Amino acid sequence: MQNRPKGGEDLNLWNIVSRQFDKAAATMSYPEGLLRQIKACNAVYYVQFPVRIGDRYEIFEGWRAEHSQHHKPTKGGIRYSEMVTQEEIMALAALMTYKCAIVDVPFGGSKGGIRFNPKKYTRDQLEKITRRYTAELVRKNFIGPGLNVPAPDLGTGEQEMAWMADTYDALTHGEDTDAFACVTGKPISQGGIHGRREATGRGVQYGIREAFKFKDDLKKFGITGGLEGKRVAIQGFGNVGTHVAKFLSEEDGCRVIAVGDVNGGVVNQDGLNIAALIEHRAKTGNLIGFPGAKDLPGAADVLEIECDILVPAALENQITLENVGRVKTKMIAEAANGPTTPGADEALNARGVMVIPDIYLNAGGVTVSYFEWTKNLSHMRYGRMEKRLEEINREKLVTSIEQMSQLRFPERMRKDLVGGPDEIDLVNSGLEGTMQSAYRDIRQALQEDKRLGDLRTAAFAVAIGRVARAYNELGVFP
Ligand code: NAD
Repeated sequence: MQNRPKGGEDLNLWNIVSRQFDKAAATMSYPEGLLRQIKACNAVYYVQFPVRIGDRYEIFEGWRAEHSQHHKPTKGGIRYSEMVTQEEIMALAALMTYKCAIVDVPFGGSKGGIRFNPKKYTRDQLEKITRRYTAELVRKNFIGPGLNVPAPDLGTGEQEMAWMADTYDALTHGEDTDAFACVTGKPISQGGIHGRREATGRGVQYGIREAFKFKDDLKKFGITGGLEGKRVAIQGFGNVGTHVAKFLSEEDGCRVIAVGDVNGGVVNQDGLNIAALIEHRAKTGNLIGFPGAKDLPGAADVLEIECDILVPAALENQITLENVGRVKTKMIAEAANGPTTPGADEALNARGVMVIPDIYLNAGGVTVSYFEWTKNLSHMRYGRMEKRLEEINREKLVTSIEQMSQLRFPERMRKDLVGGPDEIDLVNSGLEGTMQSAYRDIRQALQEDKRLGDLRTAAFAVAIGRVARAYNELGVFP
């Protein structure tokens, strides 16, 4: 991850995020000390802990970084990967601060991880590792509903979050009624929220939809027409990639022509049937060999397919100076964190490719995590109190229209009009509104200050402005 590939590009994520920050900060007039404070990572906890695996002990290395406490709790995912490093965790924590600020979610940024390959361990071993890591976080106050709230990231999911919540609850003596708000991304039965699993993919869909509303902006990048029929290529077919593929093809009429993952991918210019592809992957463990499609043997081949929208949804540093010349798209929608290196980003900007940046576009996950956290604190499912009342009021309105017009709505339409919102409807509408207003804020910043130059720098400027305001209002305290 922290490597230097051909061309000598510095791919240390902390350095990359710092430079992006500096570029935006250079257009702003905040005191230098305040900017330094916003940029710094406030605290990093590094721990080594032993876990008995079979008949031996293994030592695991873990981290939890808190980038900024201008709002509390701090928030960010837990990553299980052999590539985890301290600087990467610090950088991802910083991105969380900016991401939360952009979508106006009142959290500071955090991130955590353990350096190991979870695929090499059994479920029981993963449970032991997760519980031990959580115990270390409890010991040092790096987890808690009002302190620091983890969520899933690469290599973790609902199961790990349930183990973490249960461990936190047990170690805090089971007395804290808000204990399960100590993590988000939990299973529904453990206080999770409908729509969290697909939230990042949904947010990506809503963000792309919003960008497509501003036709004059798109024209500058040679993009015409609506989303319908647009050719989409997606790298990564995990949680984020599968949902983006599904939503864009099934709901927006896009043609998802290529999909790839770590083992290679497939391409079909007529569009891939995503539901069938998910089934094929579940059966065979691979995308390649999908009937009717051509195989793409390399993990990065999909990035070079000619398309209208390219969605990197796998890892960081995928579009680099080495391959950017072969990327043939008009729009890059960054679903993954840090998929485009700074050199590649510059080349894309110079070539007139529109890049919707990660710090905005993949913020759907943390937005719905915020909804889950508030749901846990209120101890009630969204919509429970108002659903029936809403139905009664809608029923009255529909009946009045029918009486006045002497006509009756067709039964199916009537049912749709009268039904009150479920939790998933409220979550998705809250997420859509959030993604819409955040995009407009970024766009407005770019229009008001042309020095910002691109959506990424404008997004950083919006974030810095919001964090700076919070620090200014808090003042400096010992
Ligand atoms: P995941 O583990 O579910 O899926 C990752 C996918 O990437 C898999 O299909 C895997 O095969 C593929 N992949 C891994 N290495 C690859 C390589 N070298 N080349 C090509 N493909 C490769 O992870 P996810 O949750 O879908 O996350 C994907 C990205 O989105 C990450 O950058 C993550 O940080 C970011 N993200 C995720 C969330 C979330 O809610 N899950 C939120 C914000 C950002």
